[in-house]
Amino acid sequence: MSGMIVIAGAGHAAGQAAASLRQKGYEGRIIMIGGEAWVPYQRPPLSKKFLVGELETKQLYFKPENFYPDKEIELRLSTRVETVDRATGSVTLDNGKTLEYDKLIMCIGGRVRKLVIPGNDLSGIHYLRTINDVLAIQKDFQAGAKLVIVGAGYVGLEVAAVAVQLGLDVTVLETEDRAMGRVIGPEVSKFFQQRHHEAGVRIEFGRMVQEFRGDSSITEVVCGDGYKVPADLCIVGIGLLPNTEIAEDAGLECDDGIMVDEYCQTSDPDILAAGDCTRHPSSLYGRQFRLECVQNAIEQGKTAAATICGERTPYNQAPWFWSDQYDIKLQIVGVSLGYDKLVIRGDMADNSFAAFYLRDSRLLAVDAINSPREFMLGKKLVTAKASFDIAELADEGKDFKELATAALNATS
Ligand SMILES: Cc1cc2nc3c(=O)[nH]c(=O)nc-3n(C[C@H](O)[C@H](O)[C@H](O)COP(=O)(O)OP(=O)(O)OC[C@H]3O[C@@H](n4cnc5c(N)ncnc54)[C@H](O)[C@@H]3O)c2cc1C
Repeated sequence: MSGMIVIAGAGHAAGQAAASLRQKGYEGRIIMIGGEAWVPYQRPPLSKKFLVGELETKQLYFKPENFYPDKEIELRLSTRVETVDRATGSVTLDNGKTLEYDKLIMCIGGRVRKLVIPGNDLSGIHYLRTINDVLAIQKDFQAGAKLVIVGAGYVGLEVAAVAVQLGLDVTVLETEDRAMGRVIGPEVSKFFQQRHHEAGVRIEFGRMVQEFRGDSSITEVVCGDGYKVPADLCIVGIGLLPNTEIAEDAGLECDDGIMVDEYCQTSDPDILAAGDCTRHPSSLYGRQFRLECVQNAIEQGKTAAATICGERTPYNQAPWFWSDQYDIKLQIVGVSLGYDKLVIRGDMADNSFAAFYLRDSRLLAVDAINSPREFMLGKKLVTAKASFDIAELADEGKDFKELATAALNATS
């Protein structure tokens, strides 16, 4: 296998795609174009151990720096792909150069959604997506400082947990009526809200931030209902926008993500895409998803490489995700959207339980809180589209492993 592969982006999906191409014996040139100055790195620790200062930058790297020259993967960092010309099979870069490709893999991720409100240019207002973002935040991260976090999603709450433990005074402002509403059910939200409350984090629901005030630096955050919070610094975590513009300009099919099939193929046979920037079909759920998680970036990176190498291995896994807050590890498998029954097993007071989401008795998703066994079995069960008798599942007297084994046997 030879030819020229250009990978746009140098994040998780890109790093995996390049590594998998070499693993599968691809011998042609691979050039990876990354908008950031860093070799592909892992973002999850950015709001966890890296923010606290427990990890060095190098410990975030997806592969050691010498992996790329050793595998003859050419990195062009601090460089962006600006346009894709499908007619000539080439990309232009922001340094004016043009590169021809036989295959292009777009792994261009997403960018933080910004708050466009008065005062948004004051210093002390931060977003969190990159290593550079964290290095900037750390300068303002002092014990006693008043930190306002906008958004009670998982990034905001992970930062809240780190900050309050470092002695910052933390307020979280959220427009919705519960925490992490996009990823977990209401009962599990309540559990996390309680843990944050016990740790000293104030979470204010129904607060729509309308203005940042201050002279040159932020001093106050003002909400639409007049509620005001003093602030020495602010971190905004209100979601991600997929980077689809260059794909759209090139005429690729996009809809809140670059549309790909289960082989990571876009609407152009020579262009593939992987990771946060894509929307893909899931035959497991009979719908399309755009996912923002490491598992999806890794698996789609592998799938794109396999497709280029002539393998037809469809990507159709149950998505999974994790979040660390205090001593709580939340592991989620599947997507609970549309569930009609919720069963909780375990002890919330003990910080160890699992929430099972079912529809018509079929298990859609599991939120496992400090419950690795439920998470591991949950992966198999969700993938197998296993069904349960609700009363049995809810019966704590019944061993979960036995129930899971029986449910799996019934599907095979
Ligand atoms: C703070 C934080 C915590 C997270 N925690 C978790 C977690 O606990 N568990 C989990 O599963 N997931 C977590 N995630 C999500 C996870 O990190 C992402 O899903 C994953 O990084 C997606 O990888 P990707 O390669 O698709 O995109 P990205 O990692 O966004 O990489 C895309 C890269 O492409 C570059 N790029 C964009 N446009 C261009 C262009 N035109 N030319 C060249 N380069 C370009 C970008 O600069 C970027 O470096 C977290 C994310 C963040 C930000």
